[in-house]
Amino acid sequence: MEINVSQQLKAPIGAIRNYDVDEAVEIAGSASRVQGKVRLTRTHRSILVKGTLHTETEVTCSRCLSLFAYPLTLNIEEEYFPTTDVVTGASLPLTDEPGCFTIDEHHILDLTEAIQQYVLLAIPMKPLCRQDCAGLCPNCGHNLNLGPCHCPPQQTDHRWSELNKLAFISDMKRWKETE
Ligand SMILES: [Zn+2]
Ligand SMILES: [Zn+2]
Repeated sequence: MEINVSQQLKAPIGAIRNYDVDEAVEIAGSASRVQGKVRLTRTHRSILVKGTLHTETEVTCSRCLSLFAYPLTLNIEEEYFPTTDVVTGASLPLTDEPGCFTIDEHHILDLTEAIQQYVLLAIPMKPLCRQDCAGLCPNCGHNLNLGPCHCPPQQTDHRWSELNKLAFISDMKRWKETE
């Protein structure tokens, strides 16, 4: 996603340009549509990019292991430093900002890498295809979102017996109190 900023680099500090973004960006090996708005501001040393972009990427549900499209909102805020003086064409010294982005010698500002980094940060550690995803049967691996499997419900039995025990104890207590 490339923006030519040669005009803006010549503009006075504080000059603003707004862009509507609607492009395909390679995210996790496949082209994803990225939409939104960014605002570019000329600063004394760089072009500051701020904006909100929307896209989606395919992730694996941490419970049922199915692939699903996960919507992402990216709040981008990055400074892009010129590497070439837009007027003289002379090379500019690189800034010592760690991990900063640069504008190439043709005055092209490329948002692709920033978008890819923000996507990685926005994907949750344990995505769920839906909040109440039923997951897989620990016994046969059947996807329980598609309905129950034929395994004997051992875990459920166990839990019920615990509950029955508790109910029995509280019944006993009540019985003793009333006596
Ligand atoms: Zn799931
Ligand atoms: Zn099962």
